Amino acid sequence: MNETLEQLRAGVDEIDSQLLELLSKRAELVHQIGQVKESQGVPKFEPEREKEILDRITALNKGPFSDSTLKHLFKEIFKASLNIQQEDHKRQLLVSRKKRPEDTIVTFKGVEVGGPSPILVAGPCSIESREQLRTVAKALKDSGVTVMRGGAFKPRTSPYDFQGMGLDGLKLLKEVADEFGLATISEIVHPSHIDIAADYIDVIQIGARNMHNFELLKEVGGAKIPVLLKRGLSATLDEFIHAAEYIMVSGNEQIMLIERGIRTYEKATRNTLDISAVPLLKQETHLPVMVDVTHSTGRKDIMLPCAKAALAAGADGIMIEVHPDPQTALSDAGQQLDIPQFGAFWDGLKNSGLFGPRS
Ligand code: PEP
Ligand code: MN
Repeated sequence: MNETLEQLRAGVDEIDSQLLELLSKRAELVHQIGQVKESQGVPKFEPEREKEILDRITALNKGPFSDSTLKHLFKEIFKASLNIQQEDHKRQLLVSRKKRPEDTIVTFKGVEVGGPSPILVAGPCSIESREQLRTVAKALKDSGVTVMRGGAFKPRTSPYDFQGMGLDGLKLLKEVADEFGLATISEIVHPSHIDIAADYIDVIQIGARNMHNFELLKEVGGAKIPVLLKRGLSATLDEFIHAAEYIMVSGNEQIMLIERGIRTYEKATRNTLDISAVPLLKQETHLPVMVDVTHSTGRKDIMLPCAKAALAAGADGIMIEVHPDPQTALSDAGQQLDIPQFGAFWDGLKNSGLFGPRS
């Protein structure tokens, strides 16, 4: 009896080996099909084709498995096959770590992002006046922060809200940054402003609302200065990564990603800070990853712990909004830190032991 069982099992083992060999051969064909689809721009998932296969299989079925059992088994094979094609696709992305294993370091005005030390970017939501910018710039300079942000083109929810100082704002930003020896980041919202912006700022920010603006992404891909790409309001990580791919495939490799919170049902914070985005983006791409603790939380009382969490998760930098008199700010009045609050935030971050060089 035992011998019979063993013989039968040996038969099953043999068939399993053959099945494995056949499944692997099938996977190889699936991989090649994926490459053809990629070159022709055909979608990876083709429900019609899956239906055709299932119809063929059930027509051939002589039992003992029922048609529904066979369908179930083959659907699992389809799922695994689709996975192979999707993984192959990701591997081919220029921003993928599988394509380029080493970290990309973005450099501007002597600042390195994505290297051993994280950076802090601080500054007002909007550029409002020379005096406002100089006050912030001096506070940054005095505390050793080297990169200042400030918005000149503001994509506001309401057309009746302050829209930013435009080009005059960028000129002011440059004037003040030069006076204090700071590097600058500012958002550009229109493709026609990209060339001129490069004369005034060191990094072009693409805001959350424009992450899906593919023509703008292509245009900024032709720019000669680094880009800080914000995650879209409701963008998946896959969409975020593909937005970065638009920039890189258009020729600009100096890209930094920044998680700025996503829309969820939670009302306690302005957006939900997706901290898992940090290690996932670091794993999936070779680009520096930053976290904006202002727009993600919208709450001054938790910006420091969230910034620490970001650094602990591997973030290459933090962004925070600072205004000399937040109550009178023309945008985001409720969430910008004043200068003393910024000082306390910065001290807390430095004292956390998370800000220094990492191995
Ligand atoms: C900003 O950083 O100025 C801004 C508008 O942020 P977001 O695009 O993330 O909303
Ligand atoms: Mn803001």
